[in-house]
Amino acid sequence: AGTLDIQHLSKSYPVKNGDLAVLEDVTLTIAPGEFVSIVGSSGCGKSTLLRLIVGLEEDYQGEVLLDGERIVGTSLRRGIVFQEHRLFPWLTVESNIQLGLLNADLTPGQKRQAVREHIALVGLDGFEKSYPHQLSGGMAQRVAIARALVSKPEILLLDEPFGALDALTRAYLQQELHRIWQAEGISMILVTHDVEEAIYLGDKVVVMEPRPGRIRRIVPVGLAHPRE
Ligand code: ADP
Ligand code: ADP
Repeated sequence: AGTLDIQHLSKSYPVKNGDLAVLEDVTLTIAPGEFVSIVGSSGCGKSTLLRLIVGLEEDYQGEVLLDGERIVGTSLRRGIVFQEHRLFPWLTVESNIQLGLLNADLTPGQKRQAVREHIALVGLDGFEKSYPHQLSGGMAQRVAIARALVSKPEILLLDEPFGALDALTRAYLQQELHRIWQAEGISMILVTHDVEEAIYLGDKVVVMEPRPGRIRRIVPVGLAHPRE
């Protein structure tokens, strides 16, 4: 994993009476293997920031660099997990995960092996042939995480991944995500409304202003899980 440098990002949308600044001079570094949580109220620009990082927005100021190289379009190898699992209902668990390898330069045997490893990583052994409707909400999010990680991306982005789950399932999956993060050594960016979740999982917490656009402060945490 490399260092991701977000430098002086600004983005605005044209609205009726002028421009709405959605990001104003956002600067943030994500070290290799670092876990960064982003909190802020609805509409403060969190999703826009994620879209910029993955190259889904055009027309902005500033830049996103990976190890000093400007990221062009969608060239960053990344996995994304959304609030909704976005699994294909007519495909089994293993076929859904294999979709994460669509563009991977692997033999069919290597793909099967990678899928097997990632089913084990998220604790779903035995559910390879299940369909999404046969899974609980928490299990479906585990599949979504496996699909996002199976291609060994540089970074995993999570946009409110546990927002739709009940409290107990959410607590389980927070622990699971923490374990997976440690096991994989991958950088992660988590967007969440849940401040406790942000602090529990993050090395640092980026607090956005309630009005769109600005970082209020960046708080180092990482107390819950010191690493040697
Ligand atoms: P968050 O993810 O924190 O809820 P968003 O990044 O989705 O915030 O949106 C930030 C602000 O930008 C909101 O006020 C939203 O309405 C506005 N916005 C987002 N996308 C567009 C767009 N395509 N056109 C106009 N305004 C937008
Ligand atoms: P999220 O579920 O991440 O909060 P949003 O509901 O903010 O997503 O945005 C969903 C889509 O709608 C995005 O592509 C965003 O750009 C667009 N969008 C959000 N707010 C506005 C807006 N005020 N005007 C136009 N498009 C918007």
